[in-house]
Amino acid sequence: MLPPRSSTSPPDRRLAVSVVPQGPRTLVALAGRVDESSGLSAVAQIPTREVVIDLGGITFINSLGVREWVRALRSLLGRRAEVTLTHVAAALVPQMNMVREMSAGARIASFEAPYSCEKCGHEGPMMIDVGVHGDLLRAMSAPKLPCPECKATMVCDEIPGQYFLFLELDQAASRVG
Ligand SMILES: [Zn+2]
Repeated sequence: MLPPRSSTSPPDRRLAVSVVPQGPRTLVALAGRVDESSGLSAVAQIPTREVVIDLGGITFINSLGVREWVRALRSLLGRRAEVTLTHVAAALVPQMNMVREMSAGARIASFEAPYSCEKCGHEGPMMIDVGVHGDLLRAMSAPKLPCPECKATMVCDEIPGQYFLFLELDQAASRVG
């Protein structure tokens, strides 16, 4: 899930922030560690109405990083931006389940969950598309995904009723309806 790194990339310690304006929306990609050295002011100040943030490259976040992130998200939501989070890394999901301000008010499009294959033993994070599997997720049930190694059915290693809480799907549905 990590983005490819060229030989000129800095070491994994600092957060890489990519901000690409695209008409009415801005595409953001974050990769690396989110901590006290992670300046997210470039994200907080994005002026477009739609902001899509790819979190697939996040490898680690500490409590100071959580604070930076919440501050940036609050700033965007305070301007009534529509914030979508995609590819939420497995490193972030437990934090989002503990600190609801990390994702409250944003739409989650996809996220990682740890899966394992009982047939061949392959283990690894799998990306779950909320749009595709919304009904199952709303029922707090893990989708069955094919093993990338042997194509057998993989099982989710987390307890769905706890791991999927941050999605807040029921509330999202009632807001729409
Ligand atoms: Zn397998």
